[in-house]
Amino acid sequence: MAETNTECIFCRIAAGEIPAERLVADEASLAFMDIGPLAEGHVLLVPREHYETLDDMPAETAGAMLRHLPALVRAVQTATGCQGVNVLQNNGRVAHQVVPHVHFHVIPRDEGDAFAFNWPAGSYAEGRMAELAEQIRSHMPE
Ligand code: 5GP
Ligand code: ZN
Repeated sequence: MAETNTECIFCRIAAGEIPAERLVADEASLAFMDIGPLAEGHVLLVPREHYETLDDMPAETAGAMLRHLPALVRAVQTATGCQGVNVLQNNGRVAHQVVPHVHFHVIPRDEGDAFAFNWPAGSYAEGRMAELAEQIRSHMPE
């Protein structure tokens, strides 16, 4: 079991030491309003245990947290009336992770809103996709 990190802002929120507007609270997970919303209704879903990145998490712990996602997305959509939602998980500093405790963003989206990201879709040279797929498969558990 991962330790609580007393330096970590999300561990401190989970422990009730820092106030947050909570939406879900069970033994495995917590969801609360993001203090710096990209849009009104921006929500964070986090595990109670301290894991820095998603790849550190046991599947069962991740599953126990992620089971809340569909209901959270539905509730955010209904409450805000947004047209769509991005579920975003920044994993590592290079991927814009600022708080080093796993979290999933649920971000309401509307036509013409301020949030934008670049999506530079590329393509593979002949054979490269299959080669890479084989390498990834070789690192997956049975
Ligand atoms: P990251 O860039 O690490 O994926 O996102 C971290 C998120 O945590 C940001 O959206 C930021 O607004 C949010 N956040 C940081 N500190 C606090 C806090 O003390 N309380 C809450 N509710 N959200 C926080
Ligand atoms: Zn933490």
